[in-house]
Amino acid sequence: MTRTANHNAQKLIAPLRRPIARLLQELVRTNSVAAPPGGNETPAQRVLQQFLREQGLRPELYDTAFIQESGSPLVRKNRTYAGRKNLSARVRGRGMGKSLVINGHMDTVPAGIAPWSRSPWSGQSKDGRIHGLGSFDMKGGLVAGAAVVCALERAQIRPGGDVIFESVVDEEWGGGGGTIAARLRGGGAAACVIPEGTQLEIYRATRGGFVVDLVSDAGDPSAYFSRAEVVSPAIPMGRLLTWVEELGRKRSRVRARGAYAEFPDPAPVQVLAVESNRLGPEAPLSVPSRATVRVYMQFLPQEDVDAVIAATRKELERFCARDAFFRKYPIRWQPLIGGPLYGHELPLDHPWTRCMADSAKAVLGRRPPITGAPYPCDAGLMHRDFEIPTLLFGPCGAGAHNPDEYVELDSVIRTAEVLLTAAMTWSGC
Ligand SMILES: [Zn+2]
Repeated sequence: MTRTANHNAQKLIAPLRRPIARLLQELVRTNSVAAPPGGNETPAQRVLQQFLREQGLRPELYDTAFIQESGSPLVRKNRTYAGRKNLSARVRGRGMGKSLVINGHMDTVPAGIAPWSRSPWSGQSKDGRIHGLGSFDMKGGLVAGAAVVCALERAQIRPGGDVIFESVVDEEWGGGGGTIAARLRGGGAAACVIPEGTQLEIYRATRGGFVVDLVSDAGDPSAYFSRAEVVSPAIPMGRLLTWVEELGRKRSRVRARGAYAEFPDPAPVQVLAVESNRLGPEAPLSVPSRATVRVYMQFLPQEDVDAVIAATRKELERFCARDAFFRKYPIRWQPLIGGPLYGHELPLDHPWTRCMADSAKAVLGRRPPITGAPYPCDAGLMHRDFEIPTLLFGPCGAGAHNPDEYVELDSVIRTAEVLLTAAMTWSGC
């Protein structure tokens, strides 16, 4: 079954190679940055909608604001959704097979403050790579997912079960709003694949994540240039960083099983930013009265995330109690996006994992590694909260959340072929 599906998949995707490449470039050139509480995904969703229409599909573009009145406890209260539109295109099955949802996000992170060697929105094609913000995370995978429903539609293939392609908003910054909207509106499915960048590996697990700002306010700006003692959190912040380092060491000893067993640092703790005063000419010579450390913790799928966070917070309180400065000026615990994201793990011998592995092997000529994602994403939501077995499989590239991001075009096409093979096999074509 898989071999036939594979043969068909490569033939079915071949005529889409150029249109898909052009679509990817156009999507990269269309700013779809999300910066909480909002996001600017809709112009890019319209580009994708137009493309799908030209391919004969009838995609639906719909506003996600309805989730705020849905009463779902999953919806983050600190986000705005009015005008942020999801896109969905469904190839109807014959009602006699398993359904599949191919889910990707259209939003990107901001371009950041480090310089790029070309515009983040260049969409330039060079040496087999498409360059630009969101090319790897995850417009490359998104167009591969679009290619699947286009190929089915062009060939008038009616799968056994429905194949649903959806392009969602609000994935970056752990919002999850687009995926929540897609599920509340479009219902469930028997399996899901998210074509985030995976270097053509299968990720059957994702990690949880939590970002917290540790803020210290201390000192009196009006006392500067006086004989009073200068109080500032700048130097005590060094001790706090040492505490974060120790937290990281402790977390690196967490025992990893399953998909993360081979990871050298399975539950990393990262400092994303340290801010205290500025170095530019706009800042006069003075001491800062605020210092902030942004800490990003990740969690294994099986961990009790809430318990780990609560214990970490307690540990921080004990650190403050032991330190004369922080006893006087306690550190504020300020979660960046609200509650944590939770990870997930699909068994190695799950039928969907096996189907994806066979499909990838048929297309790539080798069995790809099956491992865990080095990041959290909407997969946790899809798998845990909506009970849809979820895998990640996507293209090769680099630079996600950093300057000079790119995706390799050949790997986008391979992704499309693997996903189409898997979709046809899973849904019973
Ligand atoms: Zn992503």
